[in-house]
Amino acid sequence: MSSLATFRVQAGPQSLSERINSLAESQTLEMAKKARQLRAKGIDVISLNLGEPDFQTPQHIKEAAKKAIDEGFTFYTPVAGIPELRKGIAEKLCRENHIQVTAENIVVSTGAKQSLANVLLCLINPGDEVIIFAPFWVSYLEMVKLAEGKPVIVSGALENEYKVTAQQLQAAITPKTKAIMFSSPCNPTGAVFSRQELTAIARVVKEHEENGGNPIYIIADEIYEYINFTGEHFSIGSLDFIKDNVITVNGFSKGFAMTGWRVGYMAGPKWLADACDKMQGQVTSGTCSIAQKAALAAITGDLTPTLQMAQAYRRRRDLAKELLQQIPGIKTNHPEGAFYIFPDVSAYFGKSFGNYYIGNSYDLCMYLLNEAHVSIVDGDSFGAPNCVRISTAAADEQIKQAISRIGEALAKLA
Ligand code: PMP
Ligand code: GLU
Repeated sequence: MSSLATFRVQAGPQSLSERINSLAESQTLEMAKKARQLRAKGIDVISLNLGEPDFQTPQHIKEAAKKAIDEGFTFYTPVAGIPELRKGIAEKLCRENHIQVTAENIVVSTGAKQSLANVLLCLINPGDEVIIFAPFWVSYLEMVKLAEGKPVIVSGALENEYKVTAQQLQAAITPKTKAIMFSSPCNPTGAVFSRQELTAIARVVKEHEENGGNPIYIIADEIYEYINFTGEHFSIGSLDFIKDNVITVNGFSKGFAMTGWRVGYMAGPKWLADACDKMQGQVTSGTCSIAQKAALAAITGDLTPTLQMAQAYRRRRDLAKELLQQIPGIKTNHPEGAFYIFPDVSAYFGKSFGNYYIGNSYDLCMYLLNEAHVSIVDGDSFGAPNCVRISTAAADEQIKQAISRIGEALAKLA
């Protein structure tokens, strides 16, 4: 045996790649796991952590899936999705969003999460800068890092409902900027960018290119489009002068209460759709055949259940906001969409109760989990360390109880 054998690393976690070691755990999923663990011990935890509709998938969508199984639709599908679903999505985007695309611009994936990962992996070279509007959805940052890009965080102010302005974007652009990404309606703030705001953002990107800069791609995550209380969802991809630079990401999880089915999509220039198809062909192949038939029923079917769910989210937003405003020290925003509220809780930093010391928003979340048995997510994970995210995708009674418990626990801190 060679003497080198003495120095051999033992098989085990020390062999993990730098890539995975430098990846943070998804904090939304992590908080959900912690709540589940406490509940398994018999503790009555109210979970307002995961952004997951508490509604059932509408019946006509379930029926389409059952039919697909009964008809034996159980084989691999084309990697980019079944042709009728790609066509259905393209038609929906033309009709509802005024984004001019055809089936060849669409790639269906295992959730919008995979669509976002595909797009970033296909666009970003090591060192490319990706401007992420903060507060941002937790996975954006880690996905950019996985793609070896450099995240550049630009934060919106509470006074502007946390929305980044065109001027802020302009100031953050450098010759290395390759993409910008944001969600509207936004996870975690519920903010909705207006037509004027998005047009101003698009102009900044266009002017950069007209002044000789490299193209900048706009990754617009519209997964909460149907949960919008403003009366208008505006898609930046509908602006003709910038349409070649826009990638629209969307999915079925939120609007159709289909989180477990795992269907999302990207719509973008054909060359990028082809690249995503190629990427996905090596990593996951097409998403579940049955789920694609269900998604087709969703996109071509009656939107009444979707609109009813949105009404319920609006009522819960009002309820949560009203109750939170009664708690001293909490500064709430005014979500105009999605199903989150994102209050500033920094007034409680530096306070303590018993063995608990609240140094930051994570400490506060752990205190509320253990003391109030309410599970929410710290703002740090979303790039906003003064805040916490409370999901309002829960029954009214649960929201009331949870906020009442939060109020009682916060009152003990001194
Ligand atoms: N984007 C945003 C902003 C989200 O909140 C989510 C929720 N998980 C996703 C993308 C991904 O959704 P999914 O993979 O379930 O389609
Ligand atoms: N998007 C949801 C959330 O933000 C689901 C969890 C996740 O995929 O991160 O809570």
